[in-house]
Amino acid sequence: MSVLIVGSIALDDVKTPVEERFDLLGGSASYASVAAGYFSPVNLVGIVGDDFPANHWEFLQSRKINLDGVQRAQGKTFRWSGEYMWDMNTRETRSVALNVFETFSPKLPENFRGSDYILLANIAPSLQLQVLDQVEKPKFVIADTMDLWINIAQPELLELLKRIDMLILNDSEARELTKETSLIKAGHKIRALGPRIVAVKKGEHGCLLFGENEFFSCPAYPLEDIHDPTGAGDTFAGGLTGYLASRGNSHVNFATLKTAVVVGSVLASYNVEAFSLERMRTIGQDDILSRFNEFQNLAHFDADLP
Ligand code: AMP
Repeated sequence: MSVLIVGSIALDDVKTPVEERFDLLGGSASYASVAAGYFSPVNLVGIVGDDFPANHWEFLQSRKINLDGVQRAQGKTFRWSGEYMWDMNTRETRSVALNVFETFSPKLPENFRGSDYILLANIAPSLQLQVLDQVEKPKFVIADTMDLWINIAQPELLELLKRIDMLILNDSEARELTKETSLIKAGHKIRALGPRIVAVKKGEHGCLLFGENEFFSCPAYPLEDIHDPTGAGDTFAGGLTGYLASRGNSHVNFATLKTAVVVGSVLASYNVEAFSLERMRTIGQDDILSRFNEFQNLAHFDADLP
């Protein structure tokens, strides 16, 4: 079963305390699509400019990603630049240039409209809504967001929350959206705004998953070396959605979602091991399976209390 993904396709400049790289393939939809592509065919909706390098286009095409929904417009591709501090967690955005995104209006090809699994990767909520307006009867809709939209587009974001099954956001965004310090309270409060499932990411500390009467805490993989955290959240969301779609027609229950969260975490842990999508060029199903098994051991214990 295929996944429909909309989001940004970008050229990024990234600076870490030890290295600086320019013109990297980035964007929420690029990371999410490549991650989802390990499990399901992907239909991508987005926009690039006429400066978008052919090798990036060919790389996406080589990964089971259908690019029929990606507009190629005159002008420059969306550009983002960020700098990480020594903890490799705190990030400062140095610049954002919307470029072709400024006039972007997503148009779904006819054969994308019947999609069952939809990932509205990080992009303005008004654009996420425009995509939802064009799909017929999806089985499961997941949205990702960021602090920017909580601050400048909250009415549209709240409208979106009523129309999705699952929201993914990070801990500081969950606190900002709900004005709660407790992430547990925040998770429940966001569920009350619409989505029946909420995933709160905690960076190097894992992820919390909230359902109706269910809760799951997924650890993070204990990585020693992080080279570039960019796109970890998008990779998590893409891997999670791709896995759900690969499960086929069955109802999306909490047990399946727990596995999907682990799968997303496995892919995100690989992605941060190199800049841009470079690590994803080198990993295969065997790598995913071996780290998935390690995750299972990370949180497992079966001793009884005396
Ligand atoms: P993440 O590290 O998960 O926050 O995602 C980083 C990616 O998001 C980068 O590759 C950027 O190109 C992209 N990005 C940054 N700001 C925005 C924005 N306002 N809208 C859409 N994508 C963005």
